[in-house]
Amino acid sequence: MENLYAEIIIDISHEALDRVFGYKVPFSLREHIRVGQQVAVPFGRGNKERKGFVVGLSDSVDYDERKVKEILRIEADKVTAESKMLALAYWIRENYGSTIIQALRTVLPVQEKIGRKSDRWIELKIDPVHGPALLDEYFGRHYTAKARLLAALLDQKKISWEQASKGLKISKSTVDAMIKEDVIRVVTEYYYRNPNPERAVVENPVPLNEEQQALIEQFKEDLLADRRQTYLLHGVTGSGKTEVYLAAIEEVIRRGQQAIVLIPEIALTYQTVQRFTRRFGNRVSILNSRLSKGEKYDQWLRAKEGDVDVIIGPRSALFVPFPNLGLIVIDEEHEGSYKSEQTPKYHARETAIQKAKMEHASVILGSATPSVESYRNALEGTYQLWELTKRAKDALLPKVYIEDLRKELQSGNRSIFSRRLHKLMEDRLAKGEQIMLFLNRRGYAGFVSCRSCGHVMECPHCDVSMTYHREGRLKCHYCGHEQLMPKTCPECGSPLIGTFGLGTQKAEAAIHKEFPEARVLRMDMDTTRRKHSHEEILKAFSKGEADILLGTQMIVKGHDYANVTLVGILAADLSLHANDYRAGERTFQLLTQAAGRAGRGRKSGEVVIQTYSPQNYSIQAAASQDYQEFYRQEIGYRTLMKYPPIWQMLVIFLTGEEEKKVGDCSRKAADMLKNKGFLVVGPGEATVAKVKDQYRQVIYIKDEEYQNLVRAKDEMEQWFEKQDEKRIFIYFDFNPMNSY
Ligand code: ADP
Ligand code: ZN
Ligand code: ZN
Repeated sequence: MENLYAEIIIDISHEALDRVFGYKVPFSLREHIRVGQQVAVPFGRGNKERKGFVVGLSDSVDYDERKVKEILRIEADKVTAESKMLALAYWIRENYGSTIIQALRTVLPVQEKIGRKSDRWIELKIDPVHGPALLDEYFGRHYTAKARLLAALLDQKKISWEQASKGLKISKSTVDAMIKEDVIRVVTEYYYRNPNPERAVVENPVPLNEEQQALIEQFKEDLLADRRQTYLLHGVTGSGKTEVYLAAIEEVIRRGQQAIVLIPEIALTYQTVQRFTRRFGNRVSILNSRLSKGEKYDQWLRAKEGDVDVIIGPRSALFVPFPNLGLIVIDEEHEGSYKSEQTPKYHARETAIQKAKMEHASVILGSATPSVESYRNALEGTYQLWELTKRAKDALLPKVYIEDLRKELQSGNRSIFSRRLHKLMEDRLAKGEQIMLFLNRRGYAGFVSCRSCGHVMECPHCDVSMTYHREGRLKCHYCGHEQLMPKTCPECGSPLIGTFGLGTQKAEAAIHKEFPEARVLRMDMDTTRRKHSHEEILKAFSKGEADILLGTQMIVKGHDYANVTLVGILAADLSLHANDYRAGERTFQLLTQAAGRAGRGRKSGEVVIQTYSPQNYSIQAAASQDYQEFYRQEIGYRTLMKYPPIWQMLVIFLTGEEEKKVGDCSRKAADMLKNKGFLVVGPGEATVAKVKDQYRQVIYIKDEEYQNLVRAKDEMEQWFEKQDEKRIFIYFDFNPMNSY
């Protein structure tokens, strides 16, 4: 018989090992070995035992057959990667830059098999007609324990082990004796751990309105015609997007297929799960980082074995192994959290679309404020644009005011509340209606502005704000431009220039000072460290236990509060001047979503946006709830500046312990890339130039074609391998979500 060989990827993250190794499959494993399995192999000179993934099988190897080592065993307690997952891992590796083992770990978020949970039951083995006679016999002989158990079994047919030992006080030896007598038997029933505590009471869906119905009709037609595509569902908060997802999922389930629903981790609340459970009963489950290992493994298994039709979860839920995937829904598709922060820095949206393509499934992206990338794809016909134009329940859109903080200061108001917001807050507190105050701190990275005129220190070359560094220097992270921090505002001469430092604690103190009677709940990183604290705060607020909810972007998602009629955005500028090109987009998204929290019930709502930049287009467009206008301006800016999605961007990030070495290597790399004809910016120091004694340098590459950037990454990898620099590490980030 011919030999059988396996191509194996060793489970160690090291660039030098980023290739397949050939191993011989021993005779005893020939019948059992499969692509995707995890195996143990001897590795390296010392033949140390290592784990690896089988990625291919063949009957020959390229090198001396006598030197090929043998696989030790198949790891029975590890999950197997299916071939479609291997294919996706290769795609991720190629498009985002990582080793194949990092990509494999990504597509296999659940790696270990965890023992199943089970219940033990005691059942009667004899025919019940013989029961009474036996019972008499037991009593006659004073076998009271046996009699108790038998009497109970004649009554109930089966009894849990627990009930027998605790309730009836039956000992194990009694049970054993009765098993020996062939009177009873013990059966073990396995069940899945279920993290969804919801009782499945399925309700009838609300009838769709005309707009929703038209979309679902098209979806059905596409399914019938075997067309699978990506739909971008654009509709304001409350326009009924979730109802559309539910109806589309229902269609898919009807065809015997399954659906994955991705939502941002922060939005995976009790309410969301409840809504899906009301529709699909216990065929719904969740998968997120808060589950125990056993719970995770069981949900993974339930998906694989057809025990559920719908899995809801954040980014990593994309990789559940449904046998016949029909649809992937990505809610809030613009969310930054869909991009992985660890290598491989994959984007769940792009990866979902690729996965859907490989498995012939559809994708629905939904948002009130689509990402500029997705909207452009929709306008260009790459995605199908779906729009919902009004709120489903005829609730009114809130009235929005923009308040100019410069004018407040000029007229002597130094408080964090503009006069209008202050007045409206008094009004709501008097009426017993609720208020949400929103402090936008995302992306805030030490920009410098003038409290008197609102002027922001920007880079003269890049049109992004500069960042304050130690020793009074300002730096641009895109081009490296550096200058001294001015003592007075270059625009108006005011000395009130500095970094913006309003935090949630400070804001809470200000509320207590100005509204001493108001009950305030604060929600930020500090108050939500514990496991359920996030949910508890929101619940308390929805039960009316506070008048004001103050928080960061965390509060804009999730719950519906009918009694909130005022939303205040304390400082809209904070995200506007983050030093990256997505600042305007983020601001627009956050303001629109925050505003969307007002007036979701019968009462209409008001929104106050406080800002130093009232003329800014993101703020203006958010105030008038005009996505198209925002998009028009934003795409103009991106075109002018050659930023994504018009141009594509790759960040190459180099770190190492020796400053000089990292610097030299980065320079050489940049030169090499320039010589290959790439448009290179840098190298330059990263925003945070040193972390844990690791020096950090960045190189930016821009190109109109993503594939050229993939090529640049490949060139860089090959070049780097030749440098043999073991103490320097490189990472890639395509179209980054953060500044470096
Ligand atoms: P979104 O996901 O866009 O925020 P939802 O699907 O949550 O919107 O809908 C907002 C509210 O309107 C929900 O309470 C929902 O039950 C209700 N709703 C949605 N569609 C309809 C409809 N066709 N008829 C009646 N109520 C609807
Ligand atoms: Zn000024
Ligand atoms: Zn610059």
